[in-house]
Amino acid sequence: MPAERSNGSEQIPLLHEEDLKGTKTEQSRWRRRSWSEWLILCTLCTVGIFAVVHDLWSRLHGNATLPADPKKAAKQILSASPVIDGHIDLPILVRARFANNASAFDLNGDVVGHVDIPRLKAGKVGGFFWSAYVSCADWAGYDEGADFLNSTWRVRDTLEQIDISHVLISKYSDTFQPALNSKDVKKAIKKGKIASLIGVEGAHQIGNSIAVLRQYYTLGVRYITLTHTCHNAFADSCGTLPEKWGGLSPLGYSLIEEMNRIGMLVDLSHTSDNTARQALTYSKAPVIWSHSSARAVHEHERNVPDDILALIGTGKGKKDAVVMVNFAPDFVADPGKANVSAVADHVDHIAAIAGKKHVGLGSDFDGIGSTPVGLEDVSKYPDLIVELVKRGWKRHELEGLTGKNLLRVMEGAERVAKEIQATGAEPSYEIYDKRTDLPMRGRDL
Ligand SMILES: [Zn+2]
Repeated sequence: MPAERSNGSEQIPLLHEEDLKGTKTEQSRWRRRSWSEWLILCTLCTVGIFAVVHDLWSRLHGNATLPADPKKAAKQILSASPVIDGHIDLPILVRARFANNASAFDLNGDVVGHVDIPRLKAGKVGGFFWSAYVSCADWAGYDEGADFLNSTWRVRDTLEQIDISHVLISKYSDTFQPALNSKDVKKAIKKGKIASLIGVEGAHQIGNSIAVLRQYYTLGVRYITLTHTCHNAFADSCGTLPEKWGGLSPLGYSLIEEMNRIGMLVDLSHTSDNTARQALTYSKAPVIWSHSSARAVHEHERNVPDDILALIGTGKGKKDAVVMVNFAPDFVADPGKANVSAVADHVDHIAAIAGKKHVGLGSDFDGIGSTPVGLEDVSKYPDLIVELVKRGWKRHELEGLTGKNLLRVMEGAERVAKEIQATGAEPSYEIYDKRTDLPMRGRDL
């Protein structure tokens, strides 16, 4: 039977032997090409799948490759992790300029100072601590006495500063959302709001009373700076006066225990080195420096020295903490030399000693008379991120700097408070021993 016939039923074109040979060669070439093509295709697919998985994994873990353009890179970083600033003094500006009258200015307009809503949005701000600050008595020209008993109006003034913060957060609720813990901060950011936390800048503001600390907590305060520029009943400040306590006072240790128990962050900006060292070691919870830079970069008592930075971290004998870099030109560099690059030097140095997981941003905007060149107000944070991208900081490291490092520390303090409360620990009933009004005497009844 002719070969043609045998294939007839298969209804394929009839071929001569040569054609058949040629076809076979073609087929094998086709197969060879096909195999090589398949090989290339499979390789491309594998590479593609690997790239997608790697990118997803990296995004989840914050390591994805950044765009080559530092501005685009900074934009991406800030949309994933907007700035959470540790210290903004808008409330004291409102007190000083407008006597706490919220109808006397419009935060949606161009407000005097460094902070208003359009500039917060331009600066990709996702949250900040509103500082409820009132000055030490000596700054205001009052004598509160050697035992700090006279300036009781500081509690009233602090309540007014907490109040004006609440008033403004509520008045501009399209922009601001109150935040009482790390979850609240994340929720606010997810909604595109600016998470609004409150910090009290100095234990001189709690009227020598641990009960007042607890009441500030109920009003939404989530950090207390242990001192401002003056010593107080709890701790020594880094001011120029000789030390009174050598760091923490006996009541200062009780204050830290109570702060740990209720979940109030211990803030060590403004404290003396001894206070900072003792508090860092004694606190069960992670601590913060809400607005301090690096002393090795620029010599200033408000900046954190290397030996204290070396105590921060996760190893043996170390404590989790975040040092949030202050932009005050005096703290940053010699006169006339504070600029974006100089601020980035502080970020780099703290990262080099304590680690990149332990540095954040605490500008002190509205609390500083002048600003570094290039960081004139809250709209300028992206330029600092651009500078750090140029210096080789990676996506996840910068996301930590802008906010996630602070959130981790907050979560740590919240966890410690839960653990202490689970043991049934009672509130501290300790009374400052220089007070003579408690217990009450017959004449006071
Ligand atoms: Zn301050």
